[in-house]
Amino acid sequence: MRNSLYSEEHEMVRQAVRRFAEKELLPHAAQWEAAEYFADWVFPRMGTLGFLGLRYPQRYGGQGGDYAMGLVFAEEMAHCGLSSVAMAAAVHAEMATPPLLKFGSEDQKQRFLVPAIRGEKVACLGITEPNAGSDVASIATRAVRDGNSWILNGQKTFITNGVRADFIVLLAKTSPTLGRKGLSLFLVEKGTPGFRVTNTIKKVGMRASDTAELVFDDCRIPETNLLGEENKGFYQIMWELQGERMVGAIMAVAEAALVFHQALAYAKQRVQFGQPIGKFQAIAHKLASMATAIEAARQLNYSTAQRLAEGENLIKEVAMCKLVSARVACQVADTALQIHGGYGFTMDFPVQQAWRDLRLSRIGGGTDEVMKDIIAKSLGL
Ligand SMILES: Cc1cc2nc3c(=O)[nH]c(=O)nc-3n(C[C@H](O)[C@H](O)[C@H](O)COP(=O)(O)OP(=O)(O)OC[C@H]3O[C@@H](n4cnc5c(N)ncnc54)[C@H](O)[C@@H]3O)c2cc1C
Repeated sequence: MRNSLYSEEHEMVRQAVRRFAEKELLPHAAQWEAAEYFADWVFPRMGTLGFLGLRYPQRYGGQGGDYAMGLVFAEEMAHCGLSSVAMAAAVHAEMATPPLLKFGSEDQKQRFLVPAIRGEKVACLGITEPNAGSDVASIATRAVRDGNSWILNGQKTFITNGVRADFIVLLAKTSPTLGRKGLSLFLVEKGTPGFRVTNTIKKVGMRASDTAELVFDDCRIPETNLLGEENKGFYQIMWELQGERMVGAIMAVAEAALVFHQALAYAKQRVQFGQPIGKFQAIAHKLASMATAIEAARQLNYSTAQRLAEGENLIKEVAMCKLVSARVACQVADTALQIHGGYGFTMDFPVQQAWRDLRLSRIGGGTDEVMKDIIAKSLGL
């Protein structure tokens, strides 16, 4: 189906991403999944190919493309069955570095954004804490000014790229009495004394992506590492989350489309009772519903992303995209597994991976329940 989000140029980038994924990444995917870590050469390689700067200005080493260029890259990586790498790259280029471009000083852009676009420095984003997940404003990580420095104390968890990252975009409390109006963003480099990775989290899905617990223990950073304005962190993160949810929704539907095609192919070749199982109405209708739900979610995502690209503020609409896409994707993956019967439940067929990976889409970047809260609030409830 046609859409207004992508032009021929975007489709050319999609082809280039597919060639890269098929030739350079997919041959290693099973090994990375087993090792629960994809190789460190992937980020620099993506940087060299220009994939990490598709939508960033040329003066910072980007390709100068529009917002949809970043989306088509993430979408195609997920569609190729590389959702762990897709998520890691999206955390880097669609979640951690957009606040740098929007709120960063020129010096910060030169020190962090330029090497991030080249893939020389990997970025992560630190919001979640052991006692603060959905309730972002309740974070406890503290930043206290001391002369020309800030001193950080606290803990972050579930941080994607947390093991490999060279710097973190960190949300911390600067004015504890002001609630959400007392949070700020900081840039903290790996190797800064007091900043360390304390644990690597083992996960059900997205296994090739590293997820870490991080600790900040009297970690001193220069005052110039405050990102944007002091005490504006909550609003900066709410802005960031729109992009995070949009790209998450698009990646979820892309992986759902992949697993749908696997189920369709299987239904055409698996014979029971003397005919392909796809000829039974019970299976055919499942596939028809899956195709319809994927297309509906995809079109909602594309039209919302198009409006985001035009600069609209779309908190409710993006929450709707994330909610619908995650629900559809998990349902499609579950039905695809069912269509594969017992083989779907084995590690020999790829359907199990999408079934595990996609479960995250209903949690990461804000849960289904949080998305419904946002939508309900917009209805005046
Ligand atoms: C693999 C993975 C990668 C991640 N990557 C990152 C990352 O890079 N950076 C980062 O900062 N975070 C990251 N996260 C964290 C993620 O954003 C949080 O897990 C998510 O926001 C939910 O927070 P929580 O896990 O603390 O759950 P909780 O907030 O404790 O929620 C538990 C349950 O209670 C429900 N709930 C909570 N509040 C309400 C309410 N008001 N009304 C109704 N229901 C409610 C939730 O919907 C959920 O079902 C990642 C998580 C995972 C699993």
